[in-house]
Amino acid sequence: MSDSVSLPWSQGNRYALRQARIPHCLLVDPDPQLRVDDEGLTLVDLEIEAGRIRQIRSAADGGAAKAAGSELDSPVPTYDCRGGQVWPCFVDSHTHLDKGHIWPRTPNPDGTFEQALAAVIADAEQYCSPEDVYPRLEFGLKCSYALGTQAIRTHIDALDEQAKISFGVFQQLREAWRDRLALQAVCLVSLDYFMTSQGEKLADMMAEVGGILGGVGFQNPQLKDQVERVLQLAQTRGLDVDLHVDESNDPEDKMLPMVAQTALDLRFEQRLSCDHCCSLAVQPKDQQQQTIELVKAAGINIISLPMCNLYLQDRRSQEQVDKTPLWRGITLVHELKAAGVPVAFASDNCRDPFFGFGDHDMLEVWRESVRIAHLDQPYGDWPRSVTQTPAELMGLENVGRIGVGLPADLVLFQGRGFSELLSRSQHDRIVLRRGKSIDQTLPDYRELDELLRVN
Ligand SMILES: [Zn+2]
Repeated sequence: MSDSVSLPWSQGNRYALRQARIPHCLLVDPDPQLRVDDEGLTLVDLEIEAGRIRQIRSAADGGAAKAAGSELDSPVPTYDCRGGQVWPCFVDSHTHLDKGHIWPRTPNPDGTFEQALAAVIADAEQYCSPEDVYPRLEFGLKCSYALGTQAIRTHIDALDEQAKISFGVFQQLREAWRDRLALQAVCLVSLDYFMTSQGEKLADMMAEVGGILGGVGFQNPQLKDQVERVLQLAQTRGLDVDLHVDESNDPEDKMLPMVAQTALDLRFEQRLSCDHCCSLAVQPKDQQQQTIELVKAAGINIISLPMCNLYLQDRRSQEQVDKTPLWRGITLVHELKAAGVPVAFASDNCRDPFFGFGDHDMLEVWRESVRIAHLDQPYGDWPRSVTQTPAELMGLENVGRIGVGLPADLVLFQGRGFSELLSRSQHDRIVLRRGKSIDQTLPDYRELDELLRVN
C-alpha cells in the first residue's frame, strides 16, 4: 500500500471513506447523534472533496441507520475502511533530529544519561558540519512523514558554532519540506549559557529564525537566576519557550516549580512547555500537589517522553548487583492531566546515545505510552496526547483533529479496537495528505552508510 499509484480512489476530487472508526475525542463539533462505544470510538462515513472533509455521518450499519438518513448524500468512489481506525496525522512535539541516527558511529557505552551527554558532545566536536547534519536530519523527516506525522518540533544543540551550522540546515529543510511538514526548532544549551553575551545572541538568533527559546537546566545555586533570565530573554523578544526539566529520579531536582513560579512572577504570556519532569514522580505527595497547582496556574504544557525515559532512567551499571531497573521514568501524567494541565507524548531521541532505537513513528510512541503510563482502562481522550494537544502547544490551528471543512490529513489503520491497533505495528497504514495517498516508503538505513562509516 505504500505506492500512491495503488490507491486510485484517493486521486480523484471527491470520494468517500466508509466504516471508519474514529476516536470521538478527536472530532471537532461531533454530531450529537453519533454513537460512541466503550473505548470512546465512533463508526462513521466521511466524504472528502478537494482535499478537505466535506461531511461526516454515522456509518450506515443496517436498516435503522439507513432509515435515519445517515448515508452520504450521493454515490462517489469509495474506500471501505472495514471498521479500521482513522486518526488525524500525528504531531511530534519533542525530537532531536540534529542528533538522530548517529548510533552506528557513536553508541552509548553503558546506557546512562551521563555517557549519552558525553558521547553526543564528542560526536559533534568531531563531525558537526552541514554535510553531516543535513542527511541525518532529513532522514528523520522522511521517516516521520512516511509514518503519518505532519508537524514536528525539534530541539537543536546550539552551543556557539553548532547553532549556525545546525540552524542553517534546519532552515533549508524547513523550506524544502514546507508543503509536507510543519517544522519548529528550539535551541538547546545548558541554561547557564543565557547568563553570557553569547546566550543573548542566541536568543536574538532564535527571534530571527522564528525559533523557540529552550535549554536544559541542572540543579545548582544559580538555577533560579538562569530560569528567570531565559524567560526574560523570551519575553522581550516575544518568543515561546520549551525547556528540558528535571530529567532524573532525584527528588531534589525541583526545576519545574521554579519555572512555574518564575513564569507567574514575570507574568509570562508566551507559550511555555516543560519536558520530561521525571523527578516530580518521586517527590513527596504534598510537594507534588503544590507543583501541579503551580504548573496549572502558570499555563505550562507538559511533554512526556516515555520511550527515552524508560531507556535512560534507573539505568544501572553492569558491575552493580542490583542492576534491574525498577521505575518507569515518567512524570505524573495522570495527575497533571486531571488538574487540567495539557499533557503530550513525543518521541524524543532516535537512534542516538540518548535512545538507541526509534523510527519517528508516533503510533509506536503512543503505543509505548499506553503501556508504560497505563493510558488504557479507560483510554478516555488520551488519543489527543499525540495529535490535538501537541498541535495546540505548538500553536498549530486545525491540526491533530478531524472535522468538517478541515484538510483530509488522515492516517487509516487496519486495527479496529485499541487492542488491534496497538498489538500490531500497523505498518500497513495508509497516509492521506490533503486527501491524497502519499508515498510511504521508509528511507533505507544504507542511505547513511557513507556518512556513518567508522574509520
Ligand atoms: Zn529532549
